[in-house]
Order: sequence, then C-alpha cells, then structure tokens
Amino acid sequence: MEKTLANNKVEFNDNVLTCFGKTFYYFESFSSLKIDDLEKYDAIIIDARDIEFTRIIIKKFRSHSNIEVYLKPLFLINNKATEDPYIKELTDGMIMSFDQIPETINDINQINMKVTRLESSASSSFEVQVFKKALNYMFTRDLNTLKPMIDINSSIGYCYPVLSVNFDAFEEVKAIELLEWAEKENLIWPDFYDRVYLCSNCKGGHLSFREICPNCDSANIKSEDLVHHFPCGYIGAISDFKNKVDTVLTCPKCSKNLRHIGVDYDKPSIINHCQNCNDVFQDYLVKAKCVQCKTDTDVQFLVSKNLNIYKLTKKGRNSAVGGIYTSDYALNNEVVGTLDIKTFLTMMHYEQERIKSNALLNSNLVVFYFENIFDLYRIVSKSKEKSLLAEFVDIIRDNITPADFICINNPSIISVCINDANLEDAKIMVLKISNMIQELVMNNFNRFDLEISSNVESLSKTIAFDKQMQTTIKELVEKT
Ligand SMILES: [Zn+2]
Ligand SMILES: [Zn+2]
Ligand SMILES: [Zn+2]
Repeated sequence: MEKTLANNKVEFNDNVLTCFGKTFYYFESFSSLKIDDLEKYDAIIIDARDIEFTRIIIKKFRSHSNIEVYLKPLFLINNKATEDPYIKELTDGMIMSFDQIPETINDINQINMKVTRLESSASSSFEVQVFKKALNYMFTRDLNTLKPMIDINSSIGYCYPVLSVNFDAFEEVKAIELLEWAEKENLIWPDFYDRVYLCSNCKGGHLSFREICPNCDSANIKSEDLVHHFPCGYIGAISDFKNKVDTVLTCPKCSKNLRHIGVDYDKPSIINHCQNCNDVFQDYLVKAKCVQCKTDTDVQFLVSKNLNIYKLTKKGRNSAVGGIYTSDYALNNEVVGTLDIKTFLTMMHYEQERIKSNALLNSNLVVFYFENIFDLYRIVSKSKEKSLLAEFVDIIRDNITPADFICINNPSIISVCINDANLEDAKIMVLKISNMIQELVMNNFNRFDLEISSNVESLSKTIAFDKQMQTTIKELVEKT
C-alpha cells in the first residue's frame, strides 16, 4: 500500500510514514514484529482502538532495557477515553489523523535533544539501574513528580506509571520499595497521599475482608441487638424478646411487654452469634484473605505502606545528567585524608561517647552540600571528579586541626567533625572554607559559580550520630 496524504508532507508505505526526514512506524495490531526492530524509527504511532493492546505495546517499549527503545517518542491515534494510567502517562501525545504528524516533529526533536544530555555509565546496582531509567524518562519529558495513580491491573490497586512499568503487575510493591530507597538516597521528597494495606506474605493488595468468629474463624456469624429491660434488669439478645405472632417484645424473665426504647428498655450494644460453633461473643475479629496467595491474616498483621507523591530533589533532577551516586559510594578510600562512611560513623560514635562523659567537651558536625556540582562535573569531565574533591578536602584540612575527621558522603556532600571548638568558631571556619572553595572553582573553571549550602551544629549527646547526620543532610538537600 502506498499513498500520499492530502498535504503532501506525509508519505505512507507498509506501515512506515515519512515526514520532514523523520520516519514513523504505525503499530496497528499484534504481529511477529519484535520491538527491537523498531529502534531505528524516530517515533511510533500506536493505533489505540483497543485499550488492552495499547497498554501492552506501551509497556513493551517503556520497560525495555535499551535507552533508544524505552525513551522512544510514542503517539496514539484513534484513542478512546480511558483511565488506564500507562496510556495516560507514558505516551507523548495523540493525533486525530496522519495529517497531524508534522505537529509531532517539534516534540520529537525536543526529546531527542534531551536524550543526548543523559549520563549513561554502567549502573552499580539494581536500584540505580531501574531508578535511573525513570529519571531519564522524567528528564526527557520535563516531569518532576511521581504520583500514585489508581490502576486496576496493579496488585496493590495503585501504580507509579514511570516506575511501575518496569515491574510485573503482581510485583507492584517493588516499585514502592524502590521509591523508599530513592527517598533514603535523597533523590526524591515525599508528601503523604494515601495508605495501602498489603498481604504480609506476598505483599499483594487484593484482599477480602471478613468479620469472623474468634473461636472457630468462621465468617458465618449473625449479629443482633442486645436488649436491657430496666424494670427487672434482664439483658439478652432481642430474639429472646420476640414472638412468632406480632411485633410486640416481651421480657422472657418478667413477662412484661416492652414499651418505649429509652424509657423502660434500651439497646446497649450488639451481640454476635456464630452459626458454625454456636459461640456467642461481643467482639468479632477481622481477617483479610489475600486473593493472590490465599493467606488469611489478622488485619493487625497486614503490612501498611504509605503512598506518597514524590518530587525530585535537586540531587534527583541532576542525577539524570550527572548519574546517581548512592550513599555507599566508595570514593572516600581514594582521597587522602578522608574516612569512608563506615569508619566515619564509628569514629563519630566514639567521639560522642567522649563528649558525653564530660559536660565541658563539645564537638561540631559540619555538612557541606555542593548543590550544582554535577553541572561542574559535566564541564570538567567525570575523570576530574576525584582530583577536584581532593582539592576541596585540602582546603578543609588546612582550616581544621589534624585531629578532626573528614568524610566524603558522595560527590555532592562532605561531612566534617570539628572537635573541641565552640559552635561560633566552627561557623566562622565553615564560612571561610566555603568562600575558599567557591573562589577556587571560580578561578579555575571559567567563573563557574559553585553553590554551597552548609550546616554547622553541635554533636548531639543524645541522638544517635547516624540519625543526626541523616537529618542534617535531608534538611540541606530539601531546602534547595
Ligand atoms: Zn465459631
Ligand atoms: Zn424484664
Ligand atoms: Zn498474599
């Protein structure tokens, strides 16, 4: 089939369309075609008449491991209104007809330009690999937020499309766990949105809740009102007061008819009667049966997970082009005069014990956060990263005493312990160090303006050190 469309700009041939030098593949039905074979096209147009088909094709692209495939511009044609979060969130737009193809060219160029800026070194872990994919997608599409969306196909009822697309529907909780990891790494910042309860065995969220008998676990229970007859004090189930003839209630103890609720009797509570074991009880249990693995769990033992709306932190935004550096990042060993994070934590623990024993002793925790250092690394090339940090460490070292410790947490954060100095003196030292580092960068890297935020505080004598450091870093990273 060959035809030229009305405006002469778009050519159509065997599902391949050409327009302004860009080639589009028109995906209209399942075929023997492999997604890998479509890498060479500039964009894909999916015929979205069938929602199921559309979702599957989108997932195939977006979950692919090849960056050329998972970032491919995808457009929909003939689409129907749908609440499917993958279809709504993971495509680049829709067209009414092929005549509108020229209108997509600009978007495609924008995406391609951003793709060339992405960092692409080998990932150090599974978390880094999958999260980097999400960051790459977000960067190329100008997204800053990860929001949970209702998804009937997800095992927990919600998904984060950009991230969840990399997991099978039944392992949706892995996306949540990955977000928890990214939050710890200060890549994203949470705002509470909702909470879900999950099976303690398989972390599935499709649960069937039942009120059950505490004696035999049967759900076959009948509840009825408990009646309290004031004149004689009798308390019993309402069925004991009923007769088969009329609606009059008669007390089984004193044989008087009951008149007005609140006057001569009331209904203080409810009584449950198990139809299976005949037990009578006031409080039933609630259990949740997992539809996925059939485990029946007391609701108090379900796993609860917060679903947050996550915003990228500055570190997160920079990581698409600068790479993800995790907290176990091992550059420390290589820069002379610094401690790796584990040794630093141990030394600080001893330091804390030392000052605890004497009220006159005081130490200070200093954290430097180099906010836009990844922009600098882009200019100076990553291989210079180590020597640059070594220079920063030299400046810090020159301004503190030999007994103080320095730790490179990651390429944007350096922590220092200044022993036996008062807080005000330490603050002055930190200001001086920041100015010297900024000056060094400005003079050597083409007037680059390095933004440094720092925090100085007394080493806590009560809070565990790792907690104190984490909180400080979080606050610094969040502020920016
Ligand atoms: Zn029972
Ligand atoms: Zn009575
Ligand atoms: Zn389960």
